[in-house]
Amino acid sequence: MVIIGAGPAGLLLGQLLEREGIENIVLEHRSREYIEKRVRAGVIEYGIAELIDEAGAGERMRREGLQHHGVELRFDRTSHRIPLSELADGKPITVYGQQEVVKDLVDLRQGAGASLFFDSEVVAIEGLTTDSPSVQVEAVDGPVRISCDYVAGCDGSFGVSNKAIPKELLRRHERTYPFSWLGILTEAAPATEELIYCRHENGFALYSMRSPTLSRLYLGVRPEDTLDQWSDDRIWDELNTRLATDQTPEINQGPIIERGITAMRSIVVEPMRYGRLLLAGDAAHIVPPTGAKGMNLALADVRVLFGALVDQLKSGDGRALEAYSATCLERVWRAEEFSTYMTQMLHPSYQDEFENGIQMARLRQAANSKEASTVLARNYVDLNSL
Ligand SMILES: Cc1cc2nc3c(=O)[nH]c(=O)nc-3n(C[C@H](O)[C@H](O)[C@H](O)COP(=O)(O)OP(=O)(O)OC[C@H]3O[C@@H](n4cnc5c(N)ncnc54)[C@H](O)[C@@H]3O)c2cc1C
Repeated sequence: MVIIGAGPAGLLLGQLLEREGIENIVLEHRSREYIEKRVRAGVIEYGIAELIDEAGAGERMRREGLQHHGVELRFDRTSHRIPLSELADGKPITVYGQQEVVKDLVDLRQGAGASLFFDSEVVAIEGLTTDSPSVQVEAVDGPVRISCDYVAGCDGSFGVSNKAIPKELLRRHERTYPFSWLGILTEAAPATEELIYCRHENGFALYSMRSPTLSRLYLGVRPEDTLDQWSDDRIWDELNTRLATDQTPEINQGPIIERGITAMRSIVVEPMRYGRLLLAGDAAHIVPPTGAKGMNLALADVRVLFGALVDQLKSGDGRALEAYSATCLERVWRAEEFSTYMTQMLHPSYQDEFENGIQMARLRQAANSKEASTVLARNYVDLNSL
């Protein structure tokens, strides 16, 4: 089996297969250093943390990850706590950086001596409707062709896998939002114990953390904005303005050690299977990060794919593999729905006052109605529980 991409999806699939004794090779375009430093998602759903445990990769996550039992919705300069665990059968979320999940999985793989090749770009996938597909790789020592029985496309939205599905069979559903997120990682102790999702008339803000000494903060910005328009002072001023309440002090500031602007998109690619190619994670779908579902959804695909591959390769039972695309897409569309709900509720419109009125009504309902906050909590903590 060839796995393209050493992101969370590819590495977790490799680790689960390895434990079942199913031989697999992971091919990664970038270097080890690059993927271990790539700061992205940080909220892990309850059931996905359990999956990481099941793969034998949860030891450091349990030790160093932060368990959170609530999140805050902040609007009109007022905080509203959503008691996640209380509303979601006692389950917490785990705050632990995606790059740490990646590091743990790389360490395990290297420690076990399993095949993992960095600086190896898959440039073509062939023979997908035969019993023996192959991938063409541009490796450090030159081009290589690798034959296998299945190809797992875990190479993100800009990879080669989804492009290997013939255009006439592929359906791509896409939505681009009229805002982006400017994210910073700062060496500052979190000023709050729980994540804060904030709607302010200037735009969205999110206060999150990665450890007791590292905070990760985001600002909703215009899609055409560039980093050189956002000095450190402007970033901190705007975060303080948006996150201010009448009760809380200013947020903790520290050196900004990482920054970037990410476009907000929703994408779903159907089907997630073509012959011997199985797509998982961002290769098949992108969600706007407001619902904290990107990495969770990628790993949820892996859970389904792993079970289906074990059935097929160990017992010759191909039913789950046949159903793979349909099974995953049901969850994918639910995650898209939740991510869209959170995104539309929290990003004010600069032109449409009617839209702003709807957003405020939704926020008040999410904060004040037990039924609405329960749906939000259950979706946020464990999408499988609804
Ligand atoms: C800038 C950014 C910030 C984000 N922030 C958040 C967030 O705050 N919260 C959230 O929930 N989600 C966030 N996400 C989304 C989340 O990080 C992804 O959903 C998650 O990384 C998906 O994991 P994956 O394994 O499917 O794909 P990826 O992590 O993208 O891994 C794919 C891997 O494949 C490799 N690859 C690509 N092409 C090839 C090739 N041809 N050959 C070999 N290897 C290849 C890539 O180098 C990469 O390592 C963010 C995404 C981005 C881009």
